[in-house]
Amino acid sequence: MFQLGKSEKAFNEAKRYMPGGVNSPVRSYRSVGSNPPFISSASGSRIYDIDNNEYIDYVLSWGPMILGHANPEVIASLQEAIPRGTSYGAPTLLETELAKKVQAFMPSMEVIRLVNSGTEATMSALRVARGYTGRDRIVKFVGCYHGHSDALLVKAGSGLATFGVPDSPGVPQGVAENTITLPYNDSDAVRKLFDEIGDTIAAIIVEPVAGNMGCVPPEPGFLETLREVTKTHGAVLIFDEVMCGFRASSGGAQKRYNIKPDLTCLGKIVGGGMPLAVFGGSREIMNQIAPAGPIYQAGTLSGNPIAVTSGLATLSILQRDPTIFKQVEDTTIALCEGFERLAAQYNVPVVVQRVGSMFTIFFTDKPVKNFEDAAACNEEQFKMFFHHNLSHGIYYAPSPYESNFVSICHKSSEIERTLAVADEAFKKIS
Ligand code: PLP
Repeated sequence: MFQLGKSEKAFNEAKRYMPGGVNSPVRSYRSVGSNPPFISSASGSRIYDIDNNEYIDYVLSWGPMILGHANPEVIASLQEAIPRGTSYGAPTLLETELAKKVQAFMPSMEVIRLVNSGTEATMSALRVARGYTGRDRIVKFVGCYHGHSDALLVKAGSGLATFGVPDSPGVPQGVAENTITLPYNDSDAVRKLFDEIGDTIAAIIVEPVAGNMGCVPPEPGFLETLREVTKTHGAVLIFDEVMCGFRASSGGAQKRYNIKPDLTCLGKIVGGGMPLAVFGGSREIMNQIAPAGPIYQAGTLSGNPIAVTSGLATLSILQRDPTIFKQVEDTTIALCEGFERLAAQYNVPVVVQRVGSMFTIFFTDKPVKNFEDAAACNEEQFKMFFHHNLSHGIYYAPSPYESNFVSICHKSSEIERTLAVADEAFKKIS
């Protein structure tokens, strides 16, 4: 019998010490109106809570665990590294190794810098774009989330959209004024803006496959338009591939759609489950960063040897066996086709969107192309689906505005079980 008694008690205690009881808002389960399970361990495709419930995990720590939880090779490399010390604040061979691997997957990243989170990567990439162009304005898209730095918390998606707060108190008006937001996939709006003020814009930052309003692929021509207008007007094109890097393809969205950005941000998979992220791009732009150039960026724990070891072990496995990308994509296709078939069988209006190994089940009857479409989906049906699944051992992201992920540990038995529970859930909703 499914119950979360210990988790509920733990949550009540946590709320006394941390805002909302959590260290990142979406973990609170507020948007699905329940308490979150407290996790005790994870292995392969499974995650376990302190009430001894076992779940097939499609959150995968919000994306990083493409090899499944506690991959034996990654864990072994960490166990070997830890006794050598956990932080030096000095250069190591590991960092250059990781830089080479990142570049092998994404050749547009000629020069990179390591940071600790996706937020830091996008924040720093923006500084570089502004310093390089000498301009202040940036463009982002409604529903794209790029972390919680001031300039990017303007009509952001993810947790913020979930809570229906378009903006955050504490973001200075003066900072927000320099962030122009446009609808995702709207090439005409981009062209119009650049025709008017393109020469004052430092950068466009975009999730080339949006994941933070649910999984929304770029429409044909959208990324091409971004590339063209930025080139014409001397602005920097930043692909935020923190989520879709290594998910959309081995070389991220830039390989899948064959568009070369000026700068790329990576996170999640690149750290193999440790706090590590990367930004990088053309040598000309990146060498403007201190000490090679005048633009300041730094970090006490940047390039931390434990985090880099985890990233290196993960990328080494992916490099050694590139069929992994096809494996996880094929599994995701099978899963998504199953959801579509079952929803149709019970006449539940559902659109399943997928790119590579990321997917979202939208409770709607038309394709979701932007945030407005995502916000129009049926939240009650989502909640019913979510709760039925959670209580039957299937762990999805607790918000309709999120992507779910598949790992190499999700095999046909996991897919079968997942679809059997989805069958019951759709039946209940119908
Ligand atoms: N960019 C994208 C596309 C993300 O999905 C996220 C986090 O989910 C971030 C940036 C921020 O990364 P972090 O949470 O590591 O700061």
